[in-house]
Amino acid sequence: MDPKYQRVALNDGHFMPVLGFGSYAPPEVPRNRVVEVTKLAIEAGFRHIDSAYLYNNEEQVGLAIRSKIADGSVKREDIFYTSKLWCTFFRPQLVQPALESSLKKLQLDYVDLYLIHFPMALKPGETPLPKDENGKVMFDTVDLCAIWEAMEKCKDAGLAKSIGVSNFNRRQLEMILNKPGLKYKPVCNQVECHPYLNQSKLLDFCKSKDIVLVAHGSRTQRRQTMCKATGSLPKMPWVDQNSPALLEDPVLCALAKKHKRSPALIALRYQLQRGVVVLAKSYNEQRIRENVQVFEFQLTWEDMKVLDDLNRNFRYVAMDM
Ligand code: NAP
Repeated sequence: MDPKYQRVALNDGHFMPVLGFGSYAPPEVPRNRVVEVTKLAIEAGFRHIDSAYLYNNEEQVGLAIRSKIADGSVKREDIFYTSKLWCTFFRPQLVQPALESSLKKLQLDYVDLYLIHFPMALKPGETPLPKDENGKVMFDTVDLCAIWEAMEKCKDAGLAKSIGVSNFNRRQLEMILNKPGLKYKPVCNQVECHPYLNQSKLLDFCKSKDIVLVAHGSRTQRRQTMCKATGSLPKMPWVDQNSPALLEDPVLCALAKKHKRSPALIALRYQLQRGVVVLAKSYNEQRIRENVQVFEFQLTWEDMKVLDDLNRNFRYVAMDM
């Protein structure tokens, strides 16, 4: 099946491709590699590309998209591009300028989807993780509903076709859904989701509200924690080597053997069959091409049940701070 045509209808009438290319790579990965892999992903059949202000790669992702448009491979309307509002831009007057600054880097006229990255406000400014003189992260207090109203204005201004949230729990979603005068519902909630944290309750809730659940970290292998003291972004020293390696799970490996596919592909397929849109990051050409094969096979009802039973509510991205 051609990955280009596998899309889900959003509650605002737009469509989102069910497989997305995750573009995040740590800062040590050279930025020109971002251009190469994003072009490879489009050539392999990805039409949904996930990025964010925080990933510091929007210039390169935009360049890759525009170059695939220029060489005639795709049109702008074929691509579904997601960006995210970082937590230092949560004051309502900062929301639209933050999106405009992403668009300037991308050199695009609009994003298909703009998400509130985390339900956690940080002190406004250009420093992604502002800290005080003791090295403690500096938070801010902003009403989620006020941020949402500013997001709605971005949609009305035509800068974002759709708007949604990320890393929200049910209570935070309800704050928005129950907001007096709500103009647009979030179209999606992008959260960590994999067989060890299958988010089944949140998924049921989202489905009941016509909100799409989007899975990030669907094949994450080792726990990453933001350092509590400094609030530093995840880097190898804080990756907990004792956390369970999902892709080595014996049940996942047995299913992989049965279907003659890799455990990584089984983990992707699991999400699609439960109605979850899934992001797949890879900076490796062979694995980028492999990941679009998720449409070439099916898991049985029994396989799905076995995968459901792997849930242990284990969070790889702990966000302890
Ligand atoms: P992922 O898709 O779960 O993949 C994890 C790792 O698996 C990758 O680093 C990749 O390494 C490897 N991999 C990929 N395909 C594979 C395959 N076929 N076989 C074996 N290994 C494979 O990655 P993720 O970055 O955690 O999540 C995906 C995307 O979600 C991110 O890139 C980002 O766009 C988004 N995200 C959002 C949030 C949020 O807060 N909203 C948080 C985290 C991530 P190689 O590159 O070496 O192939």
